[in-house]
Amino acid sequence: MRRVSIFGATGSIGQNTIDLIARDPDAYDVVALTGARNVEQLAKDARRLNADVAVTADDTQLDHLRELLAGSGVDAAAGQAALHEAAQRPVDWFMSAIVGAAGLAPSLNALQQGATLALANKESLVCAGSLMLATAQGHNARILPVDSEHSAVFQGLVGEDMDAVERVIITASGGAFRDWPIEKLQDATLAQASSHPNWDMGQRITIDSASMFNKAMELIETKEYFGVAPSRIEVLVHPESMIHALVGFHDGALMAHVGPPDMRHAIGYALHWPERKTLPVERLDLAQIGALTFRAPDTVRWPALRLAREVMERGGLSGAVFNAAKEAALDGFIDGHLKFTAMADVVDAVLTGMDGHGGHIDDKMTLDNVAHVDHLARIAARAEIKKRAG
Ligand code: NAD
Ligand code: MG
Repeated sequence: MRRVSIFGATGSIGQNTIDLIARDPDAYDVVALTGARNVEQLAKDARRLNADVAVTADDTQLDHLRELLAGSGVDAAAGQAALHEAAQRPVDWFMSAIVGAAGLAPSLNALQQGATLALANKESLVCAGSLMLATAQGHNARILPVDSEHSAVFQGLVGEDMDAVERVIITASGGAFRDWPIEKLQDATLAQASSHPNWDMGQRITIDSASMFNKAMELIETKEYFGVAPSRIEVLVHPESMIHALVGFHDGALMAHVGPPDMRHAIGYALHWPERKTLPVERLDLAQIGALTFRAPDTVRWPALRLAREVMERGGLSGAVFNAAKEAALDGFIDGHLKFTAMADVVDAVLTGMDGHGGHIDDKMTLDNVAHVDHLARIAARAEIKKRAG
């Protein structure tokens, strides 16, 4: 039996992971499941999968979680210390699917114990790519990508020599506002930004898809995972979301990864790697689909892509600043304090403002320093949001 933990078990990726694991219960020994607010779901899954422990990040929910788990044999725990303790329980496979920078510490804990890390939490690589890779190397741990594009690139590289790679192309659906007139974007509402044409995901990544901040993060993620120079990484708008990424080689060949927009493929690939096992995803009928379309990304419509390029060139802790400013701006938009298009303005202003004396972007990449610039960037972002609201 393989010991597995799922951090962020109640979210979209977490639930898809549980769907796969629950189909073959005898193959897995579930150690820890974690969530935040939705403790009912957490308790239900912890009972069903007979987990050792269920942890909620929200410590006001501990009593409620305990009641829900009474008599089940599953331990209940809450708060940051409990999450930290649970992330250190030995496992073979660890799903990191918390949303946001809060996912970084558990990702590192998983690597420190030498587990295979299935990494959905892209923020871990955006904020602390070199720290993640060094930690993996230092503990003989492996990181397997659970982002559709990066899983696609990873699969396209099997048996290939990185020296033969000329470019990596990640595709983008274009999100909710792909075809909107640019001048209408500033009036986009939360409800409009929260619905994705192709993928069913958590609310934050769905809005990030509409603003292209998700793709911006994925550019940085690509650079960190595969060590590809930024100038060799391209974004291609592909409205159908069937091709997830392409790897281009020196001989002119492009290897495309084609599949339905269903995260259970990338999760399942990481779960069974290096084998391939049958997965419950739709089989594409390309004759039925008929045509796939592509277009160049519009950097006026999506300034997030330009910001990501600046971060890739800047290096240091600029990724952590970028991510924290983006998270704060997203909160501002969700709370109604910021217009949709102003999110990129806030991130731009914070990156510029912190790129100098006292910005700490050139500090050594440690977890503490990442947390420090994250904290400073959120303060700066809130000030920028206030300026724009007032
Ligand atoms: P989600 O919002 O559906 O779920 C997030 C999970 O994190 C929930 O279990 C929630 O309880 C938990 N959580 C939230 N804040 C927390 C905190 N401060 N501390 C501890 N736990 C917290 O998100 P999602 O769509 O499943 O995305 C999860 C991660 O996977 C994100 O990093 C996202 O970018 C990435 N990802 C998601 C998809 C997708 O299809 N949903 C695809 C690729 C990558
Ligand atoms: Mg993706």
